[in-house]
Amino acid sequence: MAEERESEGRNHTGEKMIPVRCFTCGKVISNVWDEYKRRTKEEKENPGKVLDELGITRYCCRRMLLTHVEFVDALSPYQ
Ligand SMILES: [Zn+2]
Repeated sequence: MAEERESEGRNHTGEKMIPVRCFTCGKVISNVWDEYKRRTKEEKENPGKVLDELGITRYCCRRMLLTHVEFVDALSPYQ
């Protein structure tokens, strides 16, 4: 799959991207990243809830997404 290979590292806009797979269990997480980012950032949804709804239930995968966010208020008290 050439397309998947290309998406590792940078996407077509040159934006830095999240790793395609969870380092720990190998689950593909790149496909939920855009939605996760949009919902937590633009719609101010609870990151934990968004991850649940996206099917990211393992702690190792959640950690990949949670620690990747550039804004630290993912851990803010208004959850
Ligand atoms: Zn994982």
